Amino acid sequence: MSKTLTLTIDGQKITVLEGTTIYEAARQAGIDIPVICYHPHLTANGLCRVCSVDAGGRVQAAACVTQCAEGMVVKTGTEKVVHGRRTLLELLAATVNLDEAPEIQALIEEYGADPARFDGGARRTAPVYDDNPFYLRDYNQCINCWRCVQVCAEDAQYAFALSFDGRGFHTQIGTFMGDGMTDTTCVFCGQCVGVCPTGALKPKRQAMLEQGVSPDEVFQQTRRKRKKSKV
Ligand code: SF4
Repeated sequence: MSKTLTLTIDGQKITVLEGTTIYEAARQAGIDIPVICYHPHLTANGLCRVCSVDAGGRVQAAACVTQCAEGMVVKTGTEKVVHGRRTLLELLAATVNLDEAPEIQALIEEYGADPARFDGGARRTAPVYDDNPFYLRDYNQCINCWRCVQVCAEDAQYAFALSFDGRGFHTQIGTFMGDGMTDTTCVFCGQCVGVCPTGALKPKRQAMLEQGVSPDEVFQQTRRKRKKSKV
């Protein structure tokens, strides 16, 4: 039989199964913790840290990856926690183009973050990769949430076409040796595009329609060309 444990979140006593994360326990109790990199169908990696909470430790804990413990006391909305989230959102806005990230924009609004607070700092810049007929990769809009990598790997597709590239501030999602997408193990399933929260990955047809290309022209340029019959 699975073992249970009891903890307190925002003053509410909650009993959960061993192995439950703070984020899952809070959801069970109807307590909302914001997330960005977390996706309910993908392995959580605690990368964006926007779900950080006070769990009684020396530093705040990422709720999406921290497992509950017996007697743990969690506070999800202290001044320090809220301040941390606000700063994190301001740093994201300073370095990445979030124009097509409505969920992050909503958090910026909710936490009263000032997107211009770190104006003048270095921004992440990268070329837009238009190297296949199906989707574009604009890493100027990428927050390194790892969702696309995870869905391309053992969480769904087992294609392993995507990985991290670079170090520190220059870290970005890439392919093996920077190969174009058609030279990788990508099978163009589109699942990475589906889980991307920022518009960094976008169907080519959508991008062309947004640029004002007519639907007829879009279909001409992106549909599979049929071989002519010999008869
Ligand atoms: S491309 Fe999209 S899904 Fe992939 S890491 Fe960047 S923001 Fe996340």
